[in-house]
Amino acid sequence: MATWETFASRFIIQARLEAATALRVGAGGEEAAQPSSSDLPVLVAPDDRPFIPGASLRGVVRSQMERIVRTLEPVAGHGRGACNPVVESEWCITSGQMTELRGDARRLEREHQVESGDRWLADQVWDRSCRVCRTFGSPWLASRVRIADLPLSNGSDGRIERRDGVSIHREKETVQNKYDFETVPAGTAFDLRITLENLAPAERGLVWLGLRELGDGHILLGGFKGRGLGRASLADLKISGLEEGDRQALKRYILHRTLTDVPVEEADRWLEKLWDELEAN
Ligand SMILES: [Zn+2]
Repeated sequence: MATWETFASRFIIQARLEAATALRVGAGGEEAAQPSSSDLPVLVAPDDRPFIPGASLRGVVRSQMERIVRTLEPVAGHGRGACNPVVESEWCITSGQMTELRGDARRLEREHQVESGDRWLADQVWDRSCRVCRTFGSPWLASRVRIADLPLSNGSDGRIERRDGVSIHREKETVQNKYDFETVPAGTAFDLRITLENLAPAERGLVWLGLRELGDGHILLGGFKGRGLGRASLADLKISGLEEGDRQALKRYILHRTLTDVPVEEADRWLEKLWDELEAN
């Protein structure tokens, strides 16, 4: 198990996320405060420059991963499948189960059946968590995938356009209300930076698959998807990293803070590792 306790590997994926179609700008506020809200990923900073919150983008990529993993591994738990983070009774570990596990951990430690209750609890959480929670995190497990907020790329002016929207009443087929909404135009680009901390190759493959889906335009960002908004593409993909056990690379990192460039073909091998695991079921 490679989690947070030791520094085993680190990979950084950088790319330019370009709006292939216009992206809707969200209102911010409450909706923006919810990382699970995948609907409004472009926000405007106090300096009027649009940006994409990294947590929202992670949420969008995660839900796409859940769909793919569920198709191949329908049962969630023990490093397989994907639970449903939206419905608590369908989490791989519910709050009630977690309370029981905490009680068990204290009892086992008190009865000297285990040396450390915390250690036992951490092992239990890891063991019971599904494939997607192990990589992207859960209420009980820190995410090992970090996506920084995506600032506007150099060369993008951050122009925001206003559009008219009309909603039609479904039954009466009359105009229900008219409203304006804002978008950033196609061509607007944002800088994407993802850090993968201590992920095994198959886990990296899961994230890489998510990025590919995003870059191929299969993951739509923002509201009003039905209007053909929200399509993005990825350009200038660059991977650098530090593989577990590579002492030379670790030395370069510690002395010079430089990670080694990783060819993109290496990421395709992560995908093969993921496929091998999925197929082993
Ligand atoms: Zn889960």
